[in-house]
Amino acid sequence: MADCLFCKIISGEIPSKKLYEDDKILAFYDISPIAPVHFLVIPKEHIQSVDAIDEKNSEIVAYIFQKIGQLAKEAGIENGYRVISNCGADAGQSVLHLHFHVIGGKELSWQA
Ligand code: 5GP
Ligand code: ZN
Repeated sequence: MADCLFCKIISGEIPSKKLYEDDKILAFYDISPIAPVHFLVIPKEHIQSVDAIDEKNSEIVAYIFQKIGQLAKEAGIENGYRVISNCGADAGQSVLHLHFHVIGGKELSWQA
């Protein structure tokens, strides 16, 4: 997707601090962290949001979750973490490319 910020991060057009990359996914640190550790995991395939996950593209979601535990360890998270995917306007989704926030490194509060 030509106009997508995260597609540009995947292509390298916009630089990022990478944590992990393979042929299917990219994990990189959030530019405005909300916790001591805050990284994003995204599929390389452009999927707009959780709302756009269907029977044809859902395999990548399982793949991402299969990787998250190891990535959290590699990022230095030792005592638990939270995985968040903001979907749509009310959730404040600001980048319309499916992404999973992984946050940790402190005791997290819970408030919606
Ligand atoms: P959303 O608000 O859509 O759930 O999450 C988008 C996230 O992308 C935000 O936490 C924001 O800080 C992060 N972000 C926006 N632009 C960039 C960027 O250019 N580089 C990186 N590494 N993160 C970004
Ligand atoms: Zn994209």
